[in-house]
Amino acid sequence: SEQEKVLLQLSHVTHVYDPDSKESFPALNDVSLSIHKNEFIGIIGHTGSGKSTLIQHLNGLMKPTSGTITYDGKDIWQDGYPLKELRSKVGLVFQYPEYQLFEESVFKDVCFGPKNQGLIEDEVKARATEALKMVGIDESLYEASPFELSGGQKRRVAIAGVLAMNPQILILDEPTAGLDPKGRDDILGQIAKLQKERGITIVLVSHSMEDVAQYASRILVVNGGKIVFDDKPRKVFEHEKELHEMGLAIPQVTQLMHRLKSEGYPVFENAITVQEA
Ligand code: ADP
Repeated sequence: SEQEKVLLQLSHVTHVYDPDSKESFPALNDVSLSIHKNEFIGIIGHTGSGKSTLIQHLNGLMKPTSGTITYDGKDIWQDGYPLKELRSKVGLVFQYPEYQLFEESVFKDVCFGPKNQGLIEDEVKARATEALKMVGIDESLYEASPFELSGGQKRRVAIAGVLAMNPQILILDEPTAGLDPKGRDDILGQIAKLQKERGITIVLVSHSMEDVAQYASRILVVNGGKIVFDDKPRKVFEHEKELHEMGLAIPQVTQLMHRLKSEGYPVFENAITVQEA
């Protein structure tokens, strides 16, 4: 079915940063992975496990040392493949994306990407308006300088800039870093809506299991350049001892779900089932 459709596929992808160095080691080591339409994937692992290296392979920013990557069944590293197009279909929001805001107004900033794609002005404006709506930025802020905004608002504008490119997959690297709990829940809620209501595939990278556990229907645990677990959250949480050894704490599932429900967050069936005490 359309839901099951594979968008991106990595087969035996290995990445060595400095192959000529004696100390070189694979930052990604024989990783195989399929990303389907409309999934919400959480990627988790401690610092240095290989998360950033992995996600930069998903939109062709990094080239694998070996292995293949296909998008819609086509090898993205074959001669003549339109990598620029891929980078708008697979949108990547870096850590602290607000540092990349530079235009004089919020609206202009979000227009930058689609304008660069060569779209006509009306289409650019329509894309920007839609993207800003999608992240919950009010029209009253369109003419504001990005620098006048709060931390959470800046981050939303930066995410809108990527959404304005109309991605099928949105990858976010630590989108809640540095935000307070309210800002964090707001952003994660908005991201979940993009997947539920717009059908955008989400890949959320975090070192916090709690962040990932809230919405992801599938969790990839990265350790030492390998994907060591790839399963539904509750299945991944069964490996408590191994996760602990990797420095990953499991959220108190029952407690977490009760908190989320009490705060009015939707608790998805496919995420975690609440265990009865
Ligand atoms: P994470 O995102 O999980 O923190 P990274 O993908 O950044 O992990 O890093 C994986 C490994 O690759 C680490 O050992 C890191 O030191 C190494 N690494 C990352 N970037 C570079 C680089 N530009 N040059 C050399 N080694 C790197």
